[in-house]
Amino acid sequence: VDPPKVEEKIGAVPNGLSTDSDVVKSNKDIFLRELISNASDALDKIRFLALTDKEVLGEGDNAKLDIQIKLDKEKKILSIRDRGIGMTKEDLIKNLGTIAKSGTSAFVEKMQTSGDLNLIGQFGVGFYSVYLVADYVEVISKHNDDKQYVWESKADGAFAISEDEWNEPLGRGTEIRLHLRDEAQEYLDEYKLKDLVKKYSEFINFPIYLWASKEVDEEVPADEDESSDDEEATESKSSEEGEEEDAEKEEEEKKPKTKTVKKTTYEWELLNDVKAIWLRNPKEVTDEEYTKFYHSLAKDFGDEKPLSWSHFTAEGDVEFKAVLFVPPKAPHDLYESYYNSNKSNLKLYVRRVFISDEFDELLPKYLNFLKGLVDSDTLPLNVSREMLQQHSSLKTIKKKLIRKALDMIRKLAEEDPDESNDKKEVEESSDSNEKKGQYAKFWNEFGKSIKLGIIEDATNRNRLAKLLRFETTKSDGKLTSLDQYISRMKSGQKDIFYITGTSKEQLEKSPFLERLIKKNYEVIFFTDPVDEYLMQYLMDYEDKKFQNVSKEGLKIGKDSNEKELKESFKDLTKWWKGALASENVDDVKISNRLADSPCVVVTSKYGWSSNMERIMQSQTL
Ligand code: ADP
Ligand code: MG
Repeated sequence: VDPPKVEEKIGAVPNGLSTDSDVVKSNKDIFLRELISNASDALDKIRFLALTDKEVLGEGDNAKLDIQIKLDKEKKILSIRDRGIGMTKEDLIKNLGTIAKSGTSAFVEKMQTSGDLNLIGQFGVGFYSVYLVADYVEVISKHNDDKQYVWESKADGAFAISEDEWNEPLGRGTEIRLHLRDEAQEYLDEYKLKDLVKKYSEFINFPIYLWASKEVDEEVPADEDESSDDEEATESKSSEEGEEEDAEKEEEEKKPKTKTVKKTTYEWELLNDVKAIWLRNPKEVTDEEYTKFYHSLAKDFGDEKPLSWSHFTAEGDVEFKAVLFVPPKAPHDLYESYYNSNKSNLKLYVRRVFISDEFDELLPKYLNFLKGLVDSDTLPLNVSREMLQQHSSLKTIKKKLIRKALDMIRKLAEEDPDESNDKKEVEESSDSNEKKGQYAKFWNEFGKSIKLGIIEDATNRNRLAKLLRFETTKSDGKLTSLDQYISRMKSGQKDIFYITGTSKEQLEKSPFLERLIKKNYEVIFFTDPVDEYLMQYLMDYEDKKFQNVSKEGLKIGKDSNEKELKESFKDLTKWWKGALASENVDDVKISNRLADSPCVVVTSKYGWSSNMERIMQSQTL
């Protein structure tokens, strides 16, 4: 087929992906995963529309929701076709051009710093990975609402779109034709492609077929091709040996003369197993399978394992299956977009049909770092997304998901030998080795989310508080928990002591700590700006109150002579209060909090701490 003529040139595609860099050379494969993922998305979309309007699927082959891969060795074309939703002319311009794509520059930037091409899918620019292997790309697409169009581009920064008058009608869907670069001819090899599809697309929920060659044994009449030799031989024989031989030959000829030859045919070979992993019994799913599933779900194809996962079935009024993952790393924009985006990273399925990955009703904001999937049999299928969003079952689902998510994180901590409370040596099994340090890693990546959870989720505040980690005057540079703090509290100590500031180093010099340290009390360091807010919500834990040691009201054990001291220094405190202007201080009091320093300025119990003053000031400036 001749390539279409260029009728219009609109926009530009990025040529930022230089194909001779080493990163690109060793990561070319990913283009296939990105294209299959796009095909699968497009199929999800049409299947979703078909829930409320069967007509959209059409009839016959059109209604088959699958992905087909074909190789043309002569023309050096690899094509991938889906019967998904397709793209209108406008979609082609909007989705495959760069104009509307903010992800492009973000990705190119990230690429330059990290060199990790595997991230491409997360930036919403996966399609451009076609240029890793092709120097000319055609996208033929037919959407129900428009005619069939061809989009084409030669990796040169421009693309063209024209009405398709050359190719066979697609019915519906999209075919991507990659004219492979000389250095990417390996993708014309069937075995290579089968391997790649198996590797990358195991969890695609639509069948993926390859137009694959197959050697078949075929019985053919043993004539023509060998007959010329035979004839000569028989002739010479018959002339030499005479009648007896002729009789034998007649015998033979009565049997049907056939032979087997190897013949190459082509047929659609199914490459994946479409049984959804979340429907399987968790006991039968291996760690490796979960890891791979995570990679495909999160479009995160680094080689890191998720930190943890939870796969469960909820029964009762609302039934659903779910798999939740704690990613190994926080995404680049997790907290950047925290306050203006509600988007959770869970995919919602209803009875195996993908509905949406933009449901904000499934998880609270602070758990948006989790990836996963929910498939419910209870939710109705044939209603709009908006209606579904308001369905009463969602509340129950959300509640259970939160509970399971927090359980999963708690277990991550409990199974980490570094976290063990009584410091008894945990057996060095390979299992415990693998879990060593995992919680510290979690805390490092997502600790802030737990703190935000304590602020936002009153119902689960205590559960979340259990997950808090921090350093203290006694933690020796390690992270510790509230439970560990409590287990070390001195007899008679009622409150949990903490101090807030910009850094541990700064706080260690604080006069507020002098006496507490001297008396062997442990004090928590809170050095994250969010900690100030956190402590406005975290009032107590396990019946212990939190006491900011820089605030008024600090009581360290019992001081029997407190009354006497107050009495004997009465005149001094009175004089001092008078000496300091009253707009500067509220009161001057006798205190037992100091050891070496003669006096200290503290903030009132209900006022802002000096650290909070500093934070508020930096925000208003
Ligand atoms: P992403 O998949 O993250 O949105 P891509 O660069 O992979 O980013 O794709 C860009 C967009 O192009 C998709 O969002 C989709 O709208 C459109 N698209 C790509 N491939 C197809 C396809 N096979 N069928 C329909 N639309 C597609
Ligand atoms: Mg994509």
